[in-house]
Amino acid sequence: MPSIVPIALITGRPMDSINMYLILDDPVTLIDAGLPDQKTYDLLEQTLSKYKLDVSHIQRIVLTHVHPDHVGITSRLQEKSRAKLYMHPLEWHKLKNGQADNVHLYQWTGIPDDYRIDTHKTSAYEKHLPEITSFIDHGDTIPFSAFSLRCLHTPGHCSGHICLYEEKTKCLFTGDHLVPHFSPALLVEPGSCGIEDRTPSLSQYMESLQKISSLSLLVAYPGHGKPFENIPELINHKNKTIPEKLNRIASFLNQKPQTVYSITTQMILELPPSLAFFACGDTLAYLDYLQREGRAQSRIDHSQIQFFTPER
Ligand SMILES: [Zn+2]
Repeated sequence: MPSIVPIALITGRPMDSINMYLILDDPVTLIDAGLPDQKTYDLLEQTLSKYKLDVSHIQRIVLTHVHPDHVGITSRLQEKSRAKLYMHPLEWHKLKNGQADNVHLYQWTGIPDDYRIDTHKTSAYEKHLPEITSFIDHGDTIPFSAFSLRCLHTPGHCSGHICLYEEKTKCLFTGDHLVPHFSPALLVEPGSCGIEDRTPSLSQYMESLQKISSLSLLVAYPGHGKPFENIPELINHKNKTIPEKLNRIASFLNQKPQTVYSITTQMILELPPSLAFFACGDTLAYLDYLQREGRAQSRIDHSQIQFFTPER
C-alpha cells in the first residue's frame, strides 16, 4: 500500500495551502513541487529528514499541471537528485514555450495593463527549465513496487491537467481539478490558431468531472487544502452550481458588446487586481459555453473578445 506524506505550504485564504505529496515507496516520488522558493525547498527537506532521507533520494517527480504553484522547485530538485520527471504533453508544451501563466488571457479579456502580474519575478528562483523524462496521458500507469498510479487526463482548469488514481486504497490525487473549499479557475488557453480555437474549458471540465465520478473513491488528495472524503458530494455540488453560474453570467449580457473584464467586474464588484486574471479566465470559459448553447454571441476585435446577447 502506498505510504503518502502530505506536505502543505500554508498560504491562508483562498488557497489555504499549496500541497506536495511524497510517496515513500520504490521509487521515492514527489507529486507536485510547491512554489519556486526557498521556503518550499526547506519544508521538503525537513519532511524528508524525518524519514532519514534528503532531496537526493527523490527519484521521480510527477506534475499534475504546470502552473507556478505546482512546478515549484522541480528544476532545483533535478539538479540535486536527477529525478525523473513526468507530466502531460500539453503541459510540457506550455512550460517549454514559457506560457505556463497563459499571458494571452490578459489580452483576450481586456484586463487593464497595470493589473498584470510580473510572473518573471516569481519564477526567478528557478533558473532552468526542468528536464522532461516521460509524457503521461490518460490510461497510462506509473508503477511502484507494490501498486501503481493510473493517470486520468482531466482538462478544465488547464488543458493538460492530470489526476492520479490508486485502485487498492481508492485514493485520487486531484491537483486543482477538485479542491475542497474553493473552485480553481477554468483557464482558457490558445489552440494552434490562437484565440479562434481556444480551449472549451468549461465543457472539458464537465467531462473531466464525469471521468472522476465513475471511480470508486475513498479519499482525495488535492493540490490545495486538506485531504477530503466527501468526493461524490463535492462533484454533485459542482454539477449544481455550474448551471447557476451560467445563468448569472448570462444575466449580465445585453446588446452592447462588452469585454470579459467588464462583465467580470459587474459580477465581482470589488475585484482585486491580483485575482483579475483568474476571475476573467473563468468568466471567459463560461461565456464560451453560453455561446455554444446559443445564449451569447461574440466578436473579436484586436485579439480582444466581446460578448453580447444573440440577435433574434
Ligand atoms: Zn494550484
